[in-house]
Amino acid sequence: MKSLEKSKYNIFVFMRDMIRMIPFHAGYLLFVAVMNAFLPTVQTLAIAEFVNRVEGTYGGVLKVHMVLIPLIILLGIVIFKQMIPSVTNLIHVSAQNHLKTVLRNRFMKKQAVLQYRYIEDSESCALIYRVCEKAENRFWTGYRTVCNGIELVIKCVALISIVMQASILSGAAILLVSVPLFYLAHQTGKQNYALQKDAVEIKRRYNYLSTILSDRDHAKERTIFGYSKHIAKEYDSLCDYANQKEAAIEKKRYANMKSGSLTMVMLAVIIMLLLLPALSNGNISNGLYVGLVTSILNLVQGMSWNLAGVMQGLADINAYLNDVSVFLNMEEKADADVEPIKIPGFQVETIEFRNVYFRYPGREEYVLKDCSFVLQGNKCYAIVGKNGAGKSTLTKLLTGLYEDYEGQILINGKNLREYQYGELKWMFSVVFQDFVRYALSFRDNIFVGNVNENNGQLLERVIEKLELESCVQELPCGIDSRLGKLEKDGVDLSGGQWQKLAIARLLYSEAPINILDEPTAALDPKGEAKVYKMFWQVNEEKFTILITHRLGAARMADEILVLDQGRVMEQGTHKALLELENGLYKEMFDSQRCWYEA
Ligand code: ADP
Repeated sequence: MKSLEKSKYNIFVFMRDMIRMIPFHAGYLLFVAVMNAFLPTVQTLAIAEFVNRVEGTYGGVLKVHMVLIPLIILLGIVIFKQMIPSVTNLIHVSAQNHLKTVLRNRFMKKQAVLQYRYIEDSESCALIYRVCEKAENRFWTGYRTVCNGIELVIKCVALISIVMQASILSGAAILLVSVPLFYLAHQTGKQNYALQKDAVEIKRRYNYLSTILSDRDHAKERTIFGYSKHIAKEYDSLCDYANQKEAAIEKKRYANMKSGSLTMVMLAVIIMLLLLPALSNGNISNGLYVGLVTSILNLVQGMSWNLAGVMQGLADINAYLNDVSVFLNMEEKADADVEPIKIPGFQVETIEFRNVYFRYPGREEYVLKDCSFVLQGNKCYAIVGKNGAGKSTLTKLLTGLYEDYEGQILINGKNLREYQYGELKWMFSVVFQDFVRYALSFRDNIFVGNVNENNGQLLERVIEKLELESCVQELPCGIDSRLGKLEKDGVDLSGGQWQKLAIARLLYSEAPINILDEPTAALDPKGEAKVYKMFWQVNEEKFTILITHRLGAARMADEILVLDQGRVMEQGTHKALLELENGLYKEMFDSQRCWYEA
């Protein structure tokens, strides 16, 4: 990825990058822009030549061969102008298709190696979304805008230089008015961009509300809570607000354009008047005068409509490129995209946290404070604690997602940082609370747990252990049935079945350390305890850590760790912890007792 240097992704780097990514399409557009830019000048000179030659025959007979060359040039210009739009349309589609492949690939690779902290940070996520969503469209539109800008500038410069040759004063007049006009258009463009950004933000919000009001995922709650009217009201008012904003943008744009074009028309008239003395004293021919007037009027028309648009487009692409720059400069995690690396003969002996301190990036408060504990490889553990106590954070540190902690984390006495990231990937398998329901086949939902292992027997064993056979039998295409709502024939499973499927992934993986991080939080306490019990029964041979804030399941563990205020406050068997006077575990257990007593 040569063009993704860690530098500012400014407009020059962007243009170079576009020419590298899609040389044919980018070259074509640049060629058309330059041609379009010079055509008015060529047209001016051709008209001048034509008029002069016709004038030259005044009183005589006009022979076709005398005006053939200017005629051919003028005809060529007409054909070029006729042909180009349809070819350009084809190029637009093809360019975006090419860009889609290249950019998706590039941005996906970048996303895959990002430091995990960006994935959890909502601002970074929003920025990544802004950059990657329809990137091909943003890149291509941006490139077109820059080409349009180049075209406008060349057009002006070429025309000014012809005018300058005839009358320096007229040339200076164009310059004098063009510069502030460009500046004004640039400012308007920037303002419009800011307004539009606001409108887009509001639109994003009401689109979300519209999803709540209409989609299948929200249907149940929508019916039960009957909130449709309330949300619809908010939706309507946001729609009105967004429409008002857009109308204001349009009004402003129109007013700017009209005032711009009025200035330009006045300028054209002034230039025509200024050129009159040059015409009468023979400095310019009649033909050139007619040609210049035609070109100036053409330019005026083009400028008044295009200038503000181009400037707004430039402000837009500039802001987008800033985002791209931030995204491309986001820190990467070394080896983030490596495949899991197996450690031959590895068996868990100990896992130790030694005086670990950790706070999330950009946060003041520590989530873990002097956290120390040792887990033995031959036991099963449960880590309990209230919501927000830092239980999931332990998992994130242990699996290498966050590295900037203080203190030491040791696996079998070896510092976690000394393991390769690929080795950690192999070592751990985790089912998170917000586990993913892949819209893939039933088989692939398990298979993604270890894509290197295509083991039909193991797959069958896992399905049997989790008592999922009847579920598979009921599916229309058995184990190959598509799940989820993505496809028309996709089958949806029940919440409990999805949970089992997530756990099946973990059983299918060969990771020696398994962590269940409250994947059953959606179940009631008894249901959760049942799932964990089953998990323990089918997964005896692997080292397991169970994370939960409910204690019914925890008591099945060999040892329980109680996390509070960023550290392990108690560690022991269920029985031992219940015997602790004023113990935290005892207090939690007593308050939850009613959940488990029939
Ligand atoms: P638990 O799993 O015990 O419920 P967590 O480990 O998820 O707790 O969270 C511990 C604390 O860290 C909470 O106060 C939570 O708000 C905060 N936290 C969790 N993730 C992040 C994050 N990505 N950025 C900032 N703070 C976070």
